Amino acid sequence: MFFSCLIFTQYADAETPPWNQLSPEAARIIERAGTERPGTGAFLHHDHDGTYTCARCRAPLFASDTKFDSGCGWPSFDDALEGAVAELPDADGHRVEIRCARCDGHLGHVFRGERMTAKNTRHCVNSVAMDFTGGTVEQAFFAGGCFWGVEHLLESEEGVISVDSGYMGGQKNNPTYRQISTGTTGHAETVRVTFNPRIVSYETLTKLFLEIHDPTQKDRQGPDVGTQYRSEIFTTNNAQKATAHQLLALLKKRGYDVVTEVSEAALYWPAENYHQDYYKRTGKAPYCHSRVSRF
Ligand SMILES: [Zn+2]
Repeated sequence: MFFSCLIFTQYADAETPPWNQLSPEAARIIERAGTERPGTGAFLHHDHDGTYTCARCRAPLFASDTKFDSGCGWPSFDDALEGAVAELPDADGHRVEIRCARCDGHLGHVFRGERMTAKNTRHCVNSVAMDFTGGTVEQAFFAGGCFWGVEHLLESEEGVISVDSGYMGGQKNNPTYRQISTGTTGHAETVRVTFNPRIVSYETLTKLFLEIHDPTQKDRQGPDVGTQYRSEIFTTNNAQKATAHQLLALLKKRGYDVVTEVSEAALYWPAENYHQDYYKRTGKAPYCHSRVSRF
């Protein structure tokens, strides 16, 4: 257990994640909850198909098909991607502020009950807090031991837009690292991969996932032991499910005693900031993940 991520986390808090460099204007808005002048943002009249991502940490935030013209002077969305946006009471005492759930960067505010769209919700977002990726994006969720290594090794694949670390599959809402580490909440350390399916297929990513961790180890991965380190593929649609089962069957046919489970994706809870991009920040190398050819 000496090299487990449990041991390392006590050193991690003080380190700064390798997020995008911000312009002074972007820093004013994202880091100090500022607001851009209405009617001036680059994405106000932007209507391409794709995904709006966080300008600081690159996490996917809003799909283009939820964007609408509210007339308020800022880009408006009537829904956010699952688990992407955190809501908290604004310092002004009456509005609800929205922040990036991954990096805690200020995005804008959310308003409900205005009857502007069927969802009756308006996420009013500063353009400067976002970037844009064209085309449809898809998400994949993989659990294969300590999420630091899985995240790190999937990140460099072409077509992958972002990978972040979190928790899935347990009973408790909003779990903390300390809680899931007990192995009693049912969560698995899980990475969320956001990718462009026109550049990289789900099959390619799943094969890579099955080669960078050991799918024959039950409830452990190397020195990390516990159900939170189990091997599991959480699927978001039937095509993903079929691909996952097909690849596991292929490995079994090749003689691997595969224990990887396949389940439908449940709520994804992003992990604390100090777990994100752990190896990139620290310059260390994964201690229990490396690529082994199996396909
Ligand atoms: Zn962010």
